[in-house]
Amino acid sequence: MRINIAKSAGFCFGVKRALEIAFKTAKCGKKVYMLGEIVHNEDVVRQIEASGIKKIGKLNKTKSGTLLIRAHGSSLNTFTKAAKLGYKIIDATCPMVKEIHRIAKDMRRKGYKIIIIGDKEHDEVRGIAGQLEDKALVIDGINNIPLRKIKKFKKAAVVAQSTQNLNAVLRITDTLKTHIPDLVFFNTICKPTRTKQDEVKNMPLENDVMIIIGSKKSANTKRLYEISRSLNKKSWWVNSKDEIKPAWFKGAKSTGITAGASTPESTIKDITSYISSL
Ligand code: SF4
Repeated sequence: MRINIAKSAGFCFGVKRALEIAFKTAKCGKKVYMLGEIVHNEDVVRQIEASGIKKIGKLNKTKSGTLLIRAHGSSLNTFTKAAKLGYKIIDATCPMVKEIHRIAKDMRRKGYKIIIIGDKEHDEVRGIAGQLEDKALVIDGINNIPLRKIKKFKKAAVVAQSTQNLNAVLRITDTLKTHIPDLVFFNTICKPTRTKQDEVKNMPLENDVMIIIGSKKSANTKRLYEISRSLNKKSWWVNSKDEIKPAWFKGAKSTGITAGASTPESTIKDITSYISSL
């Protein structure tokens, strides 16, 4: 059985960058804190904890603490509050997420209502909305468009969470266009996500089985799985080799493998060599 690994499988540029900043900051000799997990992956979280960085639920007064802002970014309120409480802030927000912040703030200054297409509870979406004092409208699906509300908008700017599925975003934007006279759409789905999604649109058609690797908490892995599964029913989403069932590969001549942006290389290697051994 052939095994084809997607070129884009695994860490994206933003996650690699955030981890480099985190490990460097951990060596500063002071206490380093993070509000939540650095990325949605259990192995990576364990490595970060082992480096000494502590996950906290809320900010407390500190004399010498450092607060590490994660790749997903944070609200303006968090930055202000942390500075007031005495934290030194190290910002590891992905530059592509920063760009979404810039667009949203700029368009709001120009008088546009801001619409974010993304998962309401996701940290990145909260961070974007938190640049605008939470005054943005978040839409998380084609069936959840608040028509009565958006019909009142004269002009609106749409940004998307960086890891959204482009086709789903375009469907929502098309509907919005029919109700809002001046609608500007910014395709803020980041390049690494688009490359991953492009690859996963072909691989399920070219392989008998698809394995998508990543944590069940990872939104971008979920998206890859959904695209793959819509094209090939033999698509499986796993986070370790223990979840793999040999029966999945019965009669298969080829298996395609891809992995979310927060999946470490070591997990991909581990799973690939296990599948090869079957
Ligand atoms: S998925 Fe995109 S936006 Fe998110 S960290 Fe990676 S490169 Fe940055």
